[in-house]
Amino acid sequence: MACKCCQCGSCCSNMGNVHTVIEDRGNYTFVVRNAYSGDVKEVRVDPDKIALFEDASSIEDLPDACPFLRFEPSRVSSAPFHGNVAFEGKKEKAWCTVHLTRPEICRDYCCWRLLILDLEGRRAGRVMYQTTFLPDTDELRRLWERVQPTLNGLSGTEWDDAVISCLTTAGYRVRR
Ligand code: SF4
Ligand code: SF4
Repeated sequence: MACKCCQCGSCCSNMGNVHTVIEDRGNYTFVVRNAYSGDVKEVRVDPDKIALFEDASSIEDLPDACPFLRFEPSRVSSAPFHGNVAFEGKKEKAWCTVHLTRPEICRDYCCWRLLILDLEGRRAGRVMYQTTFLPDTDELRRLWERVQPTLNGLSGTEWDDAVISCLTTAGYRVRR
């Protein structure tokens, strides 16, 4: 299964230092500069997301958030809307308000190669890149601390198969 974004908003909540608005061209059009690559991109708030964009209160408690990230009001989405482990207490569905014109880095981004789900189908963790293991829960973190030393010398499909075997034995489901 290919990486499928469930709109938890976790990744965009740390992109404020990457995407810097360098010009407001009016009519909800902005010029954004990538602080690392130097790429400059014009983005525009999607017509159906202007009201959502206007209310920035949902990211007030996320100082490093991308300026175009917004969360649905809690009265619209009951927790856990995105079926994900809430990060920073955020349980509502996240939206990129410039989705139609978002920068390339955002189009290419995928937050997992292996997705780890708990018994209730909620995300418990993920694997990014080759072997970057990112647990979302303390339980999975503790399991990973036990499993990781057993993987020395493994790579590629051998590493994947060993990790998946350990996780499924422990009651998790793994999507790839
Ligand atoms: S962290 Fe992953 S699932 Fe969450 S919004 Fe980003 S890409 Fe989507
Ligand atoms: S432009 Fe959109 S997809 Fe990219 S970091 Fe900002 S909110 Fe996320």
